Amino acid sequence: MSSEKSQPQQDQAPAKQANCLFCSIHNKEIKANFVYEDEDAFAIRDINPQAPTHILVIPRRHVDNVKKLEDKNLIGSLFYAAARVAEQENLDGGFRLVVNTGDDGGQTVNHLHIHVLGGRSLVWPPG
Ligand code: 5GP
Ligand code: ZN
Repeated sequence: MSSEKSQPQQDQAPAKQANCLFCSIHNKEIKANFVYEDEDAFAIRDINPQAPTHILVIPRRHVDNVKKLEDKNLIGSLFYAAARVAEQENLDGGFRLVVNTGDDGGQTVNHLHIHVLGGRSLVWPPG
């Protein structure tokens, strides 16, 4: 059987989705300071920080959120990038990774991202 009719793989998904803030930042249509970059991801400081260090690790390719994730390896790349960011920021005492998903999860930008939060003692549970 031909595989041509199978579902498109995520690695064939467009790198850019129209009207997506993080795609626009990735494509330099909106200016931002990249604090980390590798082949799969980039990182920027959150515009509204919730901790002394609050950085967003963002995949270069557009994925709406965890529910839409097809490439299992991508999360590994994002966690790896988050660990490098935490090292760069000297978060030696620990940090928190957060992935808000959907309305109830508090997701406001529909392009998958990991919040890296640190620089203070973080309370649990979060609100
Ligand atoms: P979410 O609410 O989807 O989990 O996270 C989106 C994050 O993006 C929020 O923490 C918000 O402060 C941040 N954010 C929204 N707009 C901008 C922006 O233009 N630049 C940067 N650097 N962060 C933004
Ligand atoms: Zn996007």
